[in-house]
Amino acid sequence: MHNDVLEVLLTEEQIQQKTAELGRLISEDYKDKNPLIICVLKGAVMFMGDLLKKIEVPLEIDFMAVSSYGTSTESSGVVRIVKDLDTEVAGRHVIIVEDIIDSGLTLSYLCDMLHRRNCASLKIVALLDKPHRRKAEINIDYKGFEIPDAFIVGYGLDYAEKYRNVPYIFIPKPEVYSKA
Ligand code: 5GP
Ligand code: MG
Ligand code: MG
Repeated sequence: MHNDVLEVLLTEEQIQQKTAELGRLISEDYKDKNPLIICVLKGAVMFMGDLLKKIEVPLEIDFMAVSSYGTSTESSGVVRIVKDLDTEVAGRHVIIVEDIIDSGLTLSYLCDMLHRRNCASLKIVALLDKPHRRKAEINIDYKGFEIPDAFIVGYGLDYAEKYRNVPYIFIPKPEVYSKA
């Protein structure tokens, strides 16, 4: 796997430091709110785990899986819910945890859905922001890193389901795509 690295974009240390920072901010903002923290599977799973350890207020968690019709490197905006929440969101202070926001279409769909279910408030935490190809306007309340318009993998993010377990974020070599 490490042989497939063209360039390391974010090291494990950089990610951990940022996660701690975001956790502190969320802890201050949600003191008595018992937030419901929603992880969008599968990409956000690493970030969710590390972030939760840095949030020092009572909270609940839930998971959602969505699949967006499109190619493996670009989403179409048409979202199918593969796994819905187990928790009732009406009246809850919801925080969505996302790995990366690119076009913003996936998240925009999810936000609409949660608003229709009458959550009390909704905020977004995203580890990575690729603002260059944004199609839907998204306000990222807690943002990790802004990154260039390149396809990246690692730390939960995949190419063809691979590399999710790599603890850092990197740009793969071009030949990785031709192997798939
Ligand atoms: P959006 O709907 O914002 O275009 O895309 C959101 C989803 O597309 C992300 O949650 C992620 O699963 C996938 N995605 C977008 N950019 C990248 C990328 O650079 N690398 C990987 N592995 N997935 C990405
Ligand atoms: Mg995601
Ligand atoms: Mg993926």
